[in-house]
Amino acid sequence: MRKLAAGNWKMNGVAASLAEVKALLAAHPDPVCEMLLCPPATLIAQMAWAAKGSVLKIGGQDCHPKAAGAHTGDISAAMLADAGAGHVILGHSERRADHGEGDALVQAKAQAAWAAGLVAVICVGETEAQRDGGQTLAVVGGQLAGSVPDGATAANTVIAYEPVWAIGTGRTPTLAEIAEVHGFLRAQLTARFGAEAAGMRLLYGGSVKPSNAVEIFAVPDVDGALVGGASLKAADFGAIVAALSAA
Ligand code: PEP
Repeated sequence: MRKLAAGNWKMNGVAASLAEVKALLAAHPDPVCEMLLCPPATLIAQMAWAAKGSVLKIGGQDCHPKAAGAHTGDISAAMLADAGAGHVILGHSERRADHGEGDALVQAKAQAAWAAGLVAVICVGETEAQRDGGQTLAVVGGQLAGSVPDGATAANTVIAYEPVWAIGTGRTPTLAEIAEVHGFLRAQLTARFGAEAAGMRLLYGGSVKPSNAVEIFAVPDVDGALVGGASLKAADFGAIVAALSAA
């Protein structure tokens, strides 16, 4: 399995930000791990152009479950692919919270992503209240079961465990807590998808930065990271890519 360093630029970045992509590729032209950046939709085509001929993969941050139609402001999976994306993040906690997205919708979006040839990066994660209430495994297990469609393979699906309370806060779970959830997710996937689950990448996301990447990547069943804030700067994301490549 090739590990994956994925960056989520969220609603950040304009054309001038592509300088970071050029700097990233200049410093890490051929890392051991896979590298993915998911810019806002407005930058996908330009970033794909900037990354042409390189190992950097480009992804979207969301797609609509339908292939086309009267859905003002939305973007289909085929449009993402047409713009140069090969992946799409789905069910990010900010979409679940800001747009009321539930597991059934995330699952429909994943099927739309596959139909367009995209890899679905499906996010799960508990809130702080859920963790404090001892519900973490029940919550992420429910999200995994409801959001990942039948037919998931190591090639078409990546799972990201992102505790909601760790996103953008600078706080992270303990390494034992990360290991517990990743081990649980692997077991759930194995129960459902058999041997295929061994090859499915399980990313940890939530305040990953150069200073904690090495220890997080040493945790069993952590096959990479989904990185928000630290993916915006080539130096920070590059250090995370280097840590994952050495893991
Ligand atoms: C994210 O939004 O996917 C994320 C992990 O953000 P950050 O790294 O900024 O916590």
